[in-house]
Amino acid sequence: MTTRRLYYDDSYQREFQAEVLSCEPELHGTTPAWGVVLDCTALYPTSGGQPHDLGKLNDAVVLDVRDDGEDVVHVVDRELPLGSVSGCLDWARRFDHMQQHTGQHLLSAMFQERYGRPTVSFHLGSDLCTIDLRGPEPTEEILEGAERAANQVISEDRPIAVRYGTPEEFAGLGVRKEVQRSGILRAIEIEGADLQPCGGTHVKSTAQIGIVQVRRCTKMRQDWRVEFVCGRRATRVARHDFQLLRRAADALGCAPEDVPTAVQRAIAERDAHFKALKSVLQRLAETDAAAALNVAKPQANGLRVIARAFDEESQLEYLNYFAAQLAKAEKTIALLGRSACGHLIFAQHATAGQDMSALLKQVLAQFAGKGGGTRDFARGKLSDAAQAEKAVALAERLVGGG
Ligand SMILES: [Zn+2]
Repeated sequence: MTTRRLYYDDSYQREFQAEVLSCEPELHGTTPAWGVVLDCTALYPTSGGQPHDLGKLNDAVVLDVRDDGEDVVHVVDRELPLGSVSGCLDWARRFDHMQQHTGQHLLSAMFQERYGRPTVSFHLGSDLCTIDLRGPEPTEEILEGAERAANQVISEDRPIAVRYGTPEEFAGLGVRKEVQRSGILRAIEIEGADLQPCGGTHVKSTAQIGIVQVRRCTKMRQDWRVEFVCGRRATRVARHDFQLLRRAADALGCAPEDVPTAVQRAIAERDAHFKALKSVLQRLAETDAAAALNVAKPQANGLRVIARAFDEESQLEYLNYFAAQLAKAEKTIALLGRSACGHLIFAQHATAGQDMSALLKQVLAQFAGKGGGTRDFARGKLSDAAQAEKAVALAERLVGGG
């Protein structure tokens, strides 16, 4: 027994009467559910890039609809007795799918006809739809051109019809897509624009697509993935885009149209400040290092060890400069830590003759963290930043004992 698919001939049918032919327990994910086969259905199963419908069969809620060859299986949340049943579908969801899917046919036709870019696959996601185009990268002009052409056809409100015929008949009518199946095929015709074999649900005239909005284009293996949205989705996405833009404008204290310039300026300012800060920190580190070396007393082994843990106020850049500056002095070792981030820097002048990398390893054996380096310069990061002071103290003890 084959399920008769009512949506093939009327994709606007929202309610229907059917016979329950079978109802078998199954799992929907991990939840117990029932798989129901009817003699006919208006509910669309996931197939051809279009997601399934939702709806109800009597009081049973439809969780999924799948294409099982000849049959359509409705996965519902409760058992249904054999016999007659009333079905209805979630129309808002279905109409959205019809807008996206028909928009896809139209957009693909425009890419193919005007720019010779065939569509090799289509996906209708919960937020965005995509088509994968074969060929060289579509330029901005091509993306805009295909969008404009599709919207022109939409504004002309051309009729969309379902046609049946053999692959040979369709080939004679200029169907581009190669079809493997034989026998009678179903195809969707957008008057004067496209004829495409398809089992999906479509709107009855181009005006009902509403609008096509092309978005990003990214490389996807050998093809180009073009994101787009149609109809109410396009409005929703445009509204959301504007909200994001306005939020950015508010944060920058400018008008939405000035956001790109304001961002550029903010980045340039940030870079300039960073450069200035680096040079100030470098000079500060030089002065501080000179002062530290002045007061540091050599140990019995002749080494000067300067061990310091810095608090949140310090800058990591400063620690790097400070360590490098101290390590320029002979027989000197710098053991630095920063409690804000848990960074450790162990550096020495080569004449100090220790191994900073080995020292860091010893410290990290006691305090969890990662790091490494060379004999003269090692850097690490503790998992628990608060341990920085203790880690520096341990390093100082280890060096003193060496
Ligand atoms: Zn289709």
